[in-house]
Amino acid sequence: MGYITELTDKYISNTYARFPIEIAEGKGSVFTDTEGKRYIDLGTGISVNTFGIADEEWQDAVIAQMKRYQHTSNLYYTEPGAKLAQMMCERTQMSKVFFSNSGAEANECAIKAARKYAYDRKGADYYTIITLKGSFHGRTITTLAATGQETFHRDFQPLTEGFVYAEPNDLESVEKLVEKEKVAAILFEVVQGEGGVIPLNPEFLSGIAQIADQNDILLIADEVQIGNGRSGELYGYMNYDITPDIFTTAKGLGGGLPIGATVFNKKTADVYGPGMHGSTFGGNPLSCAGAINILSRIDSELLSDVKEKSAYIFSAFEGAEGVKSVSGLGLLIGIETEKQPMMVVEQCRQQGVLVLTAKNRVRLLPALNIPWQELTEAIDVIKSVCAGG
Ligand SMILES: *Cc1c(COP(=O)(O)O)cnc(C)c1O
Repeated sequence: MGYITELTDKYISNTYARFPIEIAEGKGSVFTDTEGKRYIDLGTGISVNTFGIADEEWQDAVIAQMKRYQHTSNLYYTEPGAKLAQMMCERTQMSKVFFSNSGAEANECAIKAARKYAYDRKGADYYTIITLKGSFHGRTITTLAATGQETFHRDFQPLTEGFVYAEPNDLESVEKLVEKEKVAAILFEVVQGEGGVIPLNPEFLSGIAQIADQNDILLIADEVQIGNGRSGELYGYMNYDITPDIFTTAKGLGGGLPIGATVFNKKTADVYGPGMHGSTFGGNPLSCAGAINILSRIDSELLSDVKEKSAYIFSAFEGAEGVKSVSGLGLLIGIETEKQPMMVVEQCRQQGVLVLTAKNRVRLLPALNIPWQELTEAIDVIKSVCAGG
């Protein structure tokens, strides 16, 4: 390993277990490292590079904005954010958007909004938010509290109070908490990404939507990982018979530039007034120009491609040697393997295919436009690794 590894290990806070790959360059779904080794990338920088690496249309959109102006603050009106918000609302029948820079911030904004909404309607006691065990909502102290996984909490007490955890796909456990607690909102991912690629079932989702409706509790969908076309629909919840009051997204929205968005329906659109929330970089013109390009290309043709590629991956792994089960939705796919998932990742890496893990599964998050040639090549490698001794 060269100087990049040396400098990183010496000077960057030791929070990441990195693979021994120094990235040199990339194009589409292929990376090359500084030793000239080629990798097919099925990780997309954790669901961020929606159209792969160095996508030219997206680059052109960002560069054109870069030449106009890069940042102005939210003290003035700017076109990219305004147009992106219009696009997001028109395509989801939602009403308003707040822009930030990450998934955690998008969730913070939703959590604050839920508290304010409940405070205004039901009083100061109604601040509790139900989230699900196995969920992941971010790394800030509050979104860690929202994350229903003990291992993330342990070293950082005390966390923000006001979060209780229900069992995913167990409606009764949600009902019990609604009876016992003074609840402002239910926050969930339709497919738990970091938690092991666990999809919520349609009956559970309809059930929590009904409970929320009957008790004036807000329904908040965390679309940070599954949103922006990855599910085979524009947003993951659109695969089910539910409409959230708020949804949050980030990762793939910017196509590689940092952006977060909290999207409000009619009921929650005016929870915030001037001065109640903000973000210096929120709605950054470069990120928004990139996101406009990304969203405008997530059309019905691309979405049906996503579904087709998803079906291909599912059928490739279901019943395959060394594979116990396959889970997920669209191009967020989890493979439960007989081998340890980290061993599969490592052996794939050696053979030039980059995949991730999520809990006890190997996780695939390919670019939505990954060429069939590269997809089939990568899947063949993963299959042979799963089957091999
Ligand atoms: C990644 C992720 C987050 C956190 O996003 P950051 O941009 O890392 O803050 C929140 N929720 C879900 C579902 C995620 O996958």
